[in-house]
Amino acid sequence: MSQAVEPEPARELTLRDLAAIGVERLKGVGDKKLASLHEVGIESVLDLLTTYPRRWVDRTNEARVSDLEPGREALVLVTVRSVTKRITRNRKTMVEAVVGDGSGRLQVVFFNQPWRERQLREGLQIAMFGRADLFRGGLQMTNPIVDLIGDRTGKIVPIYPQSEKVALNTWEIAGWVEDALARCEVRGIADPLPAALRRRHGLIGRHDAFRKIHLPDSMAEKEIARRRLAFDELLRVQTVLVMRKRALEREARGIRHNVDGELTARLRASFPHQLTGAQQRAIADIEHDLAGAHPMHRLLQGDVGSGKTYVATAAMLVAVQGGHQGALMAPTEVLAEQVATVVRRLLAGVTVPDPGNLFGDRPLRVELLTNRITGADRREVLAALADGSVDILIGTHALIQEGVQFHSLGVVVVDEQHRFGVEQRAALRAKGDGDVVPDVLVMTATPIPRTAAMTVYGDLDVSVLDEKPVGRTPITTHWAKGPLMEEVAWATVRQEVGEGRQAYVVCPLIEESEKLEVASAQETHERLRANELAGLRLGLLHGRMPSAEKESVMDSFRRGELDVLVATTVIEVGVDVPNASVMVVLDADRFGIAQLHQLRGRVGRGAHASSCWLITAPTGEGEPEEGNPRVEALVASNDGFELAEIDLDLRGEGTIMNTVQKGRSDLKLASLRRDRELVALAREAAFELVDPDPLLAGQPVLLDELRLLFSAEDEAFLFKS
Ligand code: ADP
Ligand code: MG
Repeated sequence: MSQAVEPEPARELTLRDLAAIGVERLKGVGDKKLASLHEVGIESVLDLLTTYPRRWVDRTNEARVSDLEPGREALVLVTVRSVTKRITRNRKTMVEAVVGDGSGRLQVVFFNQPWRERQLREGLQIAMFGRADLFRGGLQMTNPIVDLIGDRTGKIVPIYPQSEKVALNTWEIAGWVEDALARCEVRGIADPLPAALRRRHGLIGRHDAFRKIHLPDSMAEKEIARRRLAFDELLRVQTVLVMRKRALEREARGIRHNVDGELTARLRASFPHQLTGAQQRAIADIEHDLAGAHPMHRLLQGDVGSGKTYVATAAMLVAVQGGHQGALMAPTEVLAEQVATVVRRLLAGVTVPDPGNLFGDRPLRVELLTNRITGADRREVLAALADGSVDILIGTHALIQEGVQFHSLGVVVVDEQHRFGVEQRAALRAKGDGDVVPDVLVMTATPIPRTAAMTVYGDLDVSVLDEKPVGRTPITTHWAKGPLMEEVAWATVRQEVGEGRQAYVVCPLIEESEKLEVASAQETHERLRANELAGLRLGLLHGRMPSAEKESVMDSFRRGELDVLVATTVIEVGVDVPNASVMVVLDADRFGIAQLHQLRGRVGRGAHASSCWLITAPTGEGEPEEGNPRVEALVASNDGFELAEIDLDLRGEGTIMNTVQKGRSDLKLASLRRDRELVALAREAAFELVDPDPLLAGQPVLLDELRLLFSAEDEAFLFKS
């Protein structure tokens, strides 16, 4: 009698399984459609299932055309009856369509969307969302949101991202997704989350989430699915960051610095101000890290003027006090020079024990290394660096070049992190002595929202300087809209200069071309000298000037030999002239919030009340008064963190994430803006999973997903075990 072999129950499908099934296996995907799918990057069932709808049309909420009320927003499902295109008197294209359902007809107009003529063919079913207004006795919608829905039925219709390039309809994609989901039913889709964790955070199962994001029965159900899948995206990023952080802590040997020495005490005693509470807290965090056996890996976030340079100097001094060296890397030469000046001033009079002289100390030595320092000077600095007689080196990327050899690098400060990549941080760390890794402090003056910081800098510990030194007079910011206000701005400049103050004029940002930007700066400089600011001493500073010339202009301005510095954004960061009390920014609407806030931080650094004038072109005659949310935000707030939150709201997270997460680890559903609470939960969950189980041996499904979505090259620790 043969024994019946029980078939093993099929294992649930993992993301890796789904990634291995090509979309050509799905119903109705022939060669042509397959090529189109590949064109938009959909090769596997996983790609397809993670091609999420960009919108969901809720048909239970739809209105009939006859129910539309003027002034109210509504969704209607209609058929296109006719479409025409014309050019209006002020040269805008205007596409007009008549649409209707059984109950009535509606006029629709689209301005500046010429392609609508091709999109909206007669007889097409569309969902349209917008506000109906009375126009010439009938109802009309202007620039509504339009979704082609084909013949899809169901209460909620998913609308998939469309590409201009290839012919794939949203209903075709919906059909394949449905087929793919149906095939997954047999084995089911595996869930990487421990059940307890899921329950605690009220998250539905992974498989259920895939079903409900694509085929929800209600908008509420869709949202529940989105929350789960967004959590997964965030958890993956957080888990990788936390694992990276822990791996570094585990594997890298650091220096146990002496934080109670004399030098840091001397620095504090000679500092003419009272440290802010935030500075004290940041220094305590840093000293705690420096004293420990693991290398520090910390981010110092602080708004402009919050006093980061002192904190950085204190950190480097801890290294020096134990016989090591400190280094600070700045993103530009102007900045490096500026910082070197400030650090030298802070450390003036601080001496270090001189091993060559039993009875005395020698002055602490701070050197500058940029590409401008060449020949014999460079050789001298490099030699002194290698033999340890340079205590602190400040410079640009030049610091991480070949041939720069430290005697014993102890603490590295990287200023303005957003311009350096992770690789450069790693290169700098590698300048340490053999297998001992120097401590790294990353500083940024561009505050980013907390949740974004967790995502972008999640492998770093964070200290925040959220307090301004006392005695600062807040900067008053004005929006100078139109010629009258602009004249007030120039009058303010003349008046302040008359009282001995100085001013900055920031020229229009021309992102497309540095050449144009320079030309425009030169033009502005000439114009102001001949007109608005005639008689004042004007200097010009832009990125294409030879460094020596830049430095000499900056020096003259610092010494007060120039009244007004006309500059491009080269003065964005680091420039510190306390006597400057006015800034005028031309074409301010071309700048982003963070950039304007940075720029504005160049004034308000002294005891004098300062003002900032944001000039924007007036709206044309007859055009409606337009708001400018960015400029308005700057007028309303001086708080960089608050502005960062507003910026995130206005722009979305694209720009923040671009620089960090690439490829398949992209956030598709999660939004750092909308899902702030979820980011924090995911981070907490990541620590909870990684800390008791650093290599995730007990979480095979999750680990496998991470290995699938991240590369061994970038995240080697994922592939150990
Ligand atoms: P950040 O780099 O954060 O923009 P800085 O380090 O350049 O700020 O400091 C801005 C100015 O504030 C400098 O002139 C600095 O000397 C001064 N400063 C720093 N800390 C204090 C403090 N605790 N009290 C008063 N002034 C301070
Ligand atoms: Mg600074």
